[in-house]
Amino acid sequence: MRTTSSPESSPESSQENDEPELYHIPDTDTYSYDYILYHKNFPEEWAKSHATADAGPSVCYNCVDYGCINNVFIGYCANCAQFVYNGTRGRGFISVGIEDDEPDVQNYPSIFETYMKDVDIDKIKSPMEFYASFEDETETETTVYDVNDDNNTDSIVSVLNCHYEGGYNDL
Ligand SMILES: [Zn+2]
Repeated sequence: MRTTSSPESSPESSQENDEPELYHIPDTDTYSYDYILYHKNFPEEWAKSHATADAGPSVCYNCVDYGCINNVFIGYCANCAQFVYNGTRGRGFISVGIEDDEPDVQNYPSIFETYMKDVDIDKIKSPMEFYASFEDETETETTVYDVNDDNNTDSIVSVLNCHYEGGYNDL
């Protein structure tokens, strides 16, 4: 069984204004970008661009609440999908895993017919859950961080929880 290393971070580099790194979590169907976990099918270009449009899980609580399955972001909330992207990125979620179904959004593509086609969202696991299933074998591999390093610890926690912590750019 392959053990896992932690997301790469380069503490000494001048990351402040640099673009965050996109990181594919080994052995899982997820990647992380700017402290948010995304399903691998979620378009990476969208993940990289939505915050500047004021949409997506790093700026929108609805996206976090409705757009994440087990802390993995799969699609926008109805507000972002319809009012920011006019349906070009899907119909939007009105509840966890439930897309808006109103007549006026029927013309918009459902993400379950586009990029999330053939994905069983009930089987989406966060990397934590995923790795927990190997706990016995990889027991010691998850705590390699210096707990006194606040930035480091925070960012790891945020990545794993897919929660807006208000601290995503406080490095
Ligand atoms: Zn949203």
